[in-house]
Amino acid sequence: MRIAFIGLGHMGGPMARNLLRAGHALHVFDLGAEAMHSLVAEGAQAAASPADAARNAEFVITMLPAPRHVEAVLCGSGGPGGDGSGVLASVPRGVPIVDCSTIDPATVQRLAQLAAAQGNPLADAPVSGGTGGAAAGTLTFMVGGSAEVFAQVQPVLQGMGQHIVHCGATGTGQVAKICNNLLLAISMIGVAEAMSLGVALGIDPQVLAGIVNTSSGRCWSADTYNPYPGVMPNAPASRGYSGGFGVDLMRKDLGLANDAARQVHQPLPLGAQALQLYELWSRQGHGQLDFSSIIQLLQGQRPA
Ligand code: NAD
Repeated sequence: MRIAFIGLGHMGGPMARNLLRAGHALHVFDLGAEAMHSLVAEGAQAAASPADAARNAEFVITMLPAPRHVEAVLCGSGGPGGDGSGVLASVPRGVPIVDCSTIDPATVQRLAQLAAAQGNPLADAPVSGGTGGAAAGTLTFMVGGSAEVFAQVQPVLQGMGQHIVHCGATGTGQVAKICNNLLLAISMIGVAEAMSLGVALGIDPQVLAGIVNTSSGRCWSADTYNPYPGVMPNAPASRGYSGGFGVDLMRKDLGLANDAARQVHQPLPLGAQALQLYELWSRQGHGQLDFSSIIQLLQGQRPA
């Protein structure tokens, strides 16, 4: 299939590579020349703009940082109607557009209406599984869109992921994603508090983690991704919080959850607090560390 792939970063690069390996013909675009070159070296064709990538496509995928980037790539720049550089200016009628970025449900729904007005179905399909899952082709896709669109996009997404889940109508993929990450942030802060308190009171962190992980406090943040250094050899905490899922990406996702909550008048007392803690940690210069590094904010100057 001829696929336009736009956004070749930490996630999009390896995802596009898996589609090439699955035998698809890729037309790629990214603002970064280096990201384009490495895909072109592996057989993709470089496009000059999102519109150029989409012109002869049978399928369009976007994997971009935040709502404003998705809007610019689909609509072009220069205000209403755009400047002709966006996907919607050139994509053939009927071709599905799948946005895999993590953005807010309201933006997805608005863009889906614009796409539908010119005969293109748009599905949201944010992912979980991180850069490791993107490289291994084992991502989970949370898809929002009609049953017909889901049936249309599922075979392509299978080239990049293991679990392709239909969440419901357009926007519900993003709802699933931001609710999961809201819970993940809160549980990570909870585990960080418990581990910090235990160590401050004199228990060995390995022993405490062992107890938690066989008791009612057990959760993914404790038993797979423990934030205390040395407890889990493969967790980012044991390699200086490098790699993994960045503080700034978690901060962005918590912002999306809090914004969406305001729109439906849903109180998020812990989500609001979690966002403030990640804002503070990022402001202190730690935006690129893994999000489990939030434990260092709680520990202050105390040696780990
Ligand atoms: P990234 O910053 O590494 O990549 C984004 C890419 O988009 C960059 O290469 C950038 O040059 C490109 N880009 C930005 N604006 C553009 C434009 N107007 N036209 C063309 N290209 C443009 O980000 P990432 O880590 O790949 O994440 C992408 C999305 O996936 C984000 O929404 C993120 O929240 C989500 N996500 C990331 C992870 C992760 O572990 N990194 C996990 C799950 C979901």
